[in-house]
Amino acid sequence: MVVKDLHIHTNYSDGHCTPAQVAALAYQAGLETIAISDHSYGSIMLGVREEAFVRLKQDIDNLNIQYAGKMRILLGVEANLLGNSKCDIPKTVTPEVVLLGYHRSILPNNKFSRSALFQAVFRNYDTRRNTDELIRTMCENPINILAHPNEYIRIDIKRVAQTAARENILIEINNKHLSLTADDLKLCADCGARFIISSDAHHMKDVGNFERSIAVAKAAEVMPLVVNWRATRRAE
Ligand SMILES: [Zn+2]
Ligand SMILES: [Zn+2]
Repeated sequence: MVVKDLHIHTNYSDGHCTPAQVAALAYQAGLETIAISDHSYGSIMLGVREEAFVRLKQDIDNLNIQYAGKMRILLGVEANLLGNSKCDIPKTVTPEVVLLGYHRSILPNNKFSRSALFQAVFRNYDTRRNTDELIRTMCENPINILAHPNEYIRIDIKRVAQTAARENILIEINNKHLSLTADDLKLCADCGARFIISSDAHHMKDVGNFERSIAVAKAAEVMPLVVNWRATRRAE
């Protein structure tokens, strides 16, 4: 079973639940640790502003008092790949979990972000440029998890997985964006990478739902490399 979900959204960004609703649903689903990982401020309109991160942290601190001894709630962030090796990790708070992913909602104000938006819209991919930019950003920032790799823009999975293994960054098997195939996961495993399953929940019904991620991880036979999976003994 999945015991930890480090990628859940709330209404601080584009999720539909409050942090309190997310916590209640996650606890019901049997999760032991969760991270509220909303989109960061680089996402136009929907990203969490620097000052709002302070309020979010306060909400999380209060929830941790409420769920003491039952479940841990971490402050995470889903940072954007912005170009020029940059990503938008907030400075007003210190996130306990940093995810990095590309989203179309960033301002196209440099060469990479303009090219990526073009690719995402027209599906005409510059895999080498994307991979170079992603690898530089992974190496120059404190990233824990690579969110939905290969979604929106194409990357060279092998080169990214080699970097993830070296930099100790987990490859996400995202239940909402099933961005990696079983063959991709096998390739990542061969490169020495490890994985984490995430719901990327934006709605109530998605909290605690990992069905598609589990299926692809099982098909690829990489479950022993999934850090938040705990094998349960089959009922006798
Ligand atoms: Zn995302
Ligand atoms: Zn997300």
